[in-house]
Amino acid sequence: MGDVVVIGAGVSGIQAALDLANHGIVVHLIEREPTIGGHMAQLDKTFPTNDCSMCILSPKMADVQRHANIRVHTLSEVEKVEGEVGHFRVTIREHPRYIDMDACTGCGDCIQICPVEVYNRFDAGVGVRKAIYKPHPQAVPDRVVKDKEHCIECGLCYDICGPQAILHEDAEKEVVIDASSIIVSTGYDVFDARKKLPLGYLKFPDVITSLELERMINASGPTDGKIRRLSDGKEPKSIVFIQCVGSRDMLLSRPWCSCVCCMQAIKNAMLIREKHPEIAVTIFYMDVRAYGKGYEEYYERAKSAGVRFLRGIPSDVQADNNGNGLRFQVENTETGEVEILRPGLVVLSVGIQPTDATAALAGKLGLVLEETGFIRSVHDAMDTVGTMRPGIYVAGAAISPKDIPDSVASGESAAMRAFIDMKKEGAARVRSR
Ligand code: SF4
Ligand code: SF4
Ligand code: SF4
Repeated sequence: MGDVVVIGAGVSGIQAALDLANHGIVVHLIEREPTIGGHMAQLDKTFPTNDCSMCILSPKMADVQRHANIRVHTLSEVEKVEGEVGHFRVTIREHPRYIDMDACTGCGDCIQICPVEVYNRFDAGVGVRKAIYKPHPQAVPDRVVKDKEHCIECGLCYDICGPQAILHEDAEKEVVIDASSIIVSTGYDVFDARKKLPLGYLKFPDVITSLELERMINASGPTDGKIRRLSDGKEPKSIVFIQCVGSRDMLLSRPWCSCVCCMQAIKNAMLIREKHPEIAVTIFYMDVRAYGKGYEEYYERAKSAGVRFLRGIPSDVQADNNGNGLRFQVENTETGEVEILRPGLVVLSVGIQPTDATAALAGKLGLVLEETGFIRSVHDAMDTVGTMRPGIYVAGAAISPKDIPDSVASGESAAMRAFIDMKKEGAARVRSR
């Protein structure tokens, strides 16, 4: 008899945690990053409504933070899982933050004064962060984290911190949780575009990924929403999107469709056209997959907004002979004509894949993986969240690529299954909120 453990605090895990907590069940939300929120926090707008992503997610993150039935464990990973449905024993390892969480006010003075700048994973490398940092302004918990690996111990942050919240030393902690059920909602990673060598990612600064564009296009992102060529800081006159990069690619043994990248490209193309009608935008695709509610209409709106759709995928991107620009050749498979383009910026619509931690975690949980590396649910059509192991459920993009509505629905479904388990076992511990 125990609580519910939710592993992974993206939108799917957050939804599952809130649903269970609102039914009086104590939830332990385990997240390996310093903040909850997952990839959705990195996105600018959501399709097909163009709502601000953080305006939807941030209130949910705040609800998690203040919910009396949710215990958030950031910088934490599952070490081992013993037992069975109704009686799991989950051991987690909490990595050191080097911050006194009770004393820190989240004021950010230490961030301002820190002289060390490093690659910022949250901004997909478009911007930098300090050695003491908050992943983003709406981080939950609203506390900084010290990156021990890059800190040079200059001492400036210790001096400026009024409440003396920064710790010179901190240690890993082991926490053991008794759980009735476990929900795995570990989300996804994006494809490493370097593996598609001919497309020139990291060879040419003006070939970027869709995640980098998301950060660039975001008004609170590293370029304040300005779309810039990384080569010369200028606004590009033309932008092309290349679809299915790292998806539907038998040569890379990645046959699956990543489900979201068509709509993500359409959304960003439309946002660019609305803000910058002077920029020509073309999407190179194999098929446009606009399958959800309102998605087809959204696709039509993009065409009306002047986004050009060309059926054909370039095999490589080259340096333009005339200078620093880019050039590629592509066959328009609808007309049979070969076109040569010289775009100012190339955006690679990178696919979705299981996180690098999925296989190890599945091993600890006794779960089976698909050939693709995603976690296998019992039956894709009739039981989308159950796994081979009773009492352990899987939600969101840990099962397969999913958009936000489907990830939320999946989190809700897993929460309901965990709730039913508790009812069956007579194990629900209803606590007053
Ligand atoms: Fe502010 Fe100190 Fe917390 Fe930094 S560690 S955010 S200076 S309270
Ligand atoms: Fe930054 Fe480390 Fe210096 Fe603090 S001690 S300001 S974290 S480099
Ligand atoms: Fe390709 Fe579109 Fe599927 Fe993404 S969603 S893999 S771009 S077909």
